[in-house]
Amino acid sequence: MTSPTLVWIRRDLRLSDHAALTAAVERGGPVIPVFLRDSLVDGLGAAPKWRLGLGLKCFGDVLADMESQLVLRSGNARDVIPALAKEVGAGAVYWQRAYDPASVERDTDVKAALKDVGVEAKSFAGHLMFEPWTIETGQGTFYKVYTPFWKTVRDRPVDAPLAAPSTLPAPDAWPGSETLEDWSLGVAMNRGAAIVRPFVQLGEQAAQSRLGAFMATKVADYVRTRDLPGVDGTSNLSENLALGEISPAQCWHAGQRAMQDGKPGAETFLKELVWREFAYHLMWHTPRILTDNWREEWQAFPWNEDERKAEVQAWMQGRTGIRFVDAAMREMYVTGRMHNRGRMIVASYLTKHLMCHWKVGLNWFEECLIDWDPASNAMGWQWSAGSGPDATPYFRVFNPVTQLDKFDKDRSYVSRWLAEDYRTPHEDALSFYKAIPRSWSMSSGDAYPEPIVAPDVGRKRALSAYQNRSF
Ligand code: FAD
Repeated sequence: MTSPTLVWIRRDLRLSDHAALTAAVERGGPVIPVFLRDSLVDGLGAAPKWRLGLGLKCFGDVLADMESQLVLRSGNARDVIPALAKEVGAGAVYWQRAYDPASVERDTDVKAALKDVGVEAKSFAGHLMFEPWTIETGQGTFYKVYTPFWKTVRDRPVDAPLAAPSTLPAPDAWPGSETLEDWSLGVAMNRGAAIVRPFVQLGEQAAQSRLGAFMATKVADYVRTRDLPGVDGTSNLSENLALGEISPAQCWHAGQRAMQDGKPGAETFLKELVWREFAYHLMWHTPRILTDNWREEWQAFPWNEDERKAEVQAWMQGRTGIRFVDAAMREMYVTGRMHNRGRMIVASYLTKHLMCHWKVGLNWFEECLIDWDPASNAMGWQWSAGSGPDATPYFRVFNPVTQLDKFDKDRSYVSRWLAEDYRTPHEDALSFYKAIPRSWSMSSGDAYPEPIVAPDVGRKRALSAYQNRSF
């Protein structure tokens, strides 16, 4: 009898295109999927942690339908994973790789601990299409600019996605499991959770449907509509990609097929998937992108780092008096997601008009986004602030008023998210007031606020600080 294999589930809540799960089935013997609540899970922001809880429940139910189970344990991975392997007599522990520095350090430790006790430990690719160490410039270094990165990877073969295993052999007896109820992963969402929940599309099946619908109806016009926040023109798959409910390879192959079918927009979609890869490439090679100015000279810039400052609070609460910014911040509070154009506008306004450190924005996004992704969030913030690789230069300051005229001509976006200007506000605009804490003291009957910092004033202030910088 082959000994059991533990499959340590992390950001890969799916059955198909899951190399670790497939390898475990092929090894023979019982397969025991386990999810570990460790300090990395405890350290997540409110919305991503809540979304993780929903994802785990959904994935656990899928496993239960296959007469399998998701075993839940908590503690330090270095102790718990080898102890569980011993408890169930596992001969192997398999998992899919993570790439952020804390996970890499943890996984390296666990691998060593398992090897010490004679248990096979093996990690697999799957969260990315291209392992970061396999993409090099002609000089043998990593890419710091997106376009050459794209040109290098676009013709690389991406393995065809694996089919889902039809069965997962169960052990004679399941090890004990903690419960999601006891974990209360959603506790920090307080009353906001019920508002955000209808916007969530949960699990592998929903993610596949999203991909299918995107390829059937939206991709053809994606080049035009992807920039219009008032139009549902993008795939919305970031939420599912963040937790591995779908793999990037599955999205890539669907995009390739659409391209072969001559659908305009398919190549642009592939390019967006490669932005995600690029973010991981940068995080892998320069983990400091998560915590420090990627361009070190920016350490000397006089950022405001005080998140309690009134201007910054107004930004968080969607009451800056700048309609594009406020609409986007409220969209995030209600849906847990924000259109990419909105992300660029609010990040530019915070870091340039308000001269606030990008880390304050990065942290707030980490608290609020259900599609929070460490690499894409850090790259997006440093790109917007001008401190990152291949970033928009600091002196290129988005004007949030003219941007609105350009990308929300008919005001369908702001009218969906702002209540104050309208006699009969959109129900989503009203939902915002149900989701926010009472302490924000905001009501739909309020007058729309005057700008806390007018676009031209903020722009001049930012440019003058930039010109006077000491680097
Ligand atoms: P689509 O347009 O359908 O694109 C398909 C996929 O490509 C996305 O799901 C995503 O995985 C990837 N992608 C698209 N644009 C980007 C991009 N600019 N950078 C990296 N990957 C991209 N994305 C996250 O997934 N999580 C984050 O926490 C996150 N934070 C961001 C913060 C800032 C300040 C900025 C400017 C961008 C951030 N992004 C983040 C990137 C981008 O805004 C989202 O990926 C995108 O809005 C998701 O919508 P979609 O799935 O409909 O994308």
